[in-house]
Amino acid sequence: MREITVPPTAGLPLQWADLLPWGAGDFAEQLAAWLGVHSVQLECSGTSALMVALRSLKQLRPERSEVIVPAYTCPLVALAIAQCGLQMRLCDLRVDALDMDADCLHLLCSDKTLAVLPTHLCGRVADVDAAVQCARAVGAYVIEDAAQALGASCEGQSVGLKGDVGFFSLAVGKGLSTYEGGVLITRDAVLRDVLHATGAKTKFNLWWELRRSVELLGYAALYHPAGLRMAYGKPLEQALSRGNWVQAASDDFDDFIPQHSLGAWRQAVGSKALRRLSVFQQQIADQTRTRLAQLRACGLEVVDDIAADSQGVWPVILLRLPSQQARDAVLQAHWGDGSGLSLPFVHVLPDYGCYDHVLGAARNEDVPQARDWAKRLLAISNSPWLDDARFARVLANIQAATQR
Ligand SMILES: *Cc1c(COP(=O)(O)O)cnc(C)c1O
Repeated sequence: MREITVPPTAGLPLQWADLLPWGAGDFAEQLAAWLGVHSVQLECSGTSALMVALRSLKQLRPERSEVIVPAYTCPLVALAIAQCGLQMRLCDLRVDALDMDADCLHLLCSDKTLAVLPTHLCGRVADVDAAVQCARAVGAYVIEDAAQALGASCEGQSVGLKGDVGFFSLAVGKGLSTYEGGVLITRDAVLRDVLHATGAKTKFNLWWELRRSVELLGYAALYHPAGLRMAYGKPLEQALSRGNWVQAASDDFDDFIPQHSLGAWRQAVGSKALRRLSVFQQQIADQTRTRLAQLRACGLEVVDDIAADSQGVWPVILLRLPSQQARDAVLQAHWGDGSGLSLPFVHVLPDYGCYDHVLGAARNEDVPQARDWAKRLLAISNSPWLDDARFARVLANIQAATQR
């Protein structure tokens, strides 16, 4: 019998009852209560939410044009910044964490800086205080990219609140999903109004809403072990057989970022699934604890939260392998076998090539540490469908490749 295909991240599976349009209540209100915030603003994707944030801040500081992001992040961030007519600057990473390096950030910050984007990559809680300190010194804003960190907290409150604005993604594979969706939060009442006014310009679009609704139905139908082989496993195998890792990691994005509202039915689906999210995340956190211990006992380096009072979420477990050679050997042998291995992102932004046209001068920024991270990171899915026996085999495979 063929083994099941494990999805690359721990997404919350939908249930058929989620798809019924009644009995849901107000999604935005429920999400705000779940996050413990005053209110949330819903957008059609995390990228669109970021664009609303950038346009709002640009309106408040029209003379500023640069946005500083970690060099290892989602290419959609680069596309969003370019589509807003802003210039991206790339910050190198720390040696010991996926955070922006403070010295590098300090050098990049200037009176041209509109915003700095500390990023809670793969659910790991970033050091936002350090970014806020650098940004404040030059009068810039801080936008927390919490696309992969819905449910993560720091000092007892949701991530996204230490900076001026925070955003989450509701895309497939990022936990709670409306197929595509985005969420903006801020603790600042003035900014809340500005974000709201900017967001109000994104209108309902029937074509996009129909398309996303069909995609959400398809996701509900196929997000189970058997369906995933067709929807995820097959295309992955094909991309790998062509040697196309960028496609295999789903890092190939279109330039055009659609902006429209998030339709009522998809909100209702999100609202019902949200009721199961805390229990699901707790189950994942428990699974993570055991597995981190196992990985560490084998001498592997796990990427963990570094601030003592922070609690991340665990869509994946991230490993930093001793060398690119070892990492690539594991992927070459096991990426396509459906056991849930993947890459957060394949490259640092300048190394894709296909995003050069939006990077501008940032193409030439020196980011050696981020590049080293990009070459040695490996993600293991935290989906509950990767059971203990199979996880043990994944672990043995990784060990074999690292000791070779
Ligand atoms: C996915 C992602 C985004 C964009 O979110 P979408 O909802 O997919 O548009 C932004 N930043 C990071 C770090 C991401 O992983």
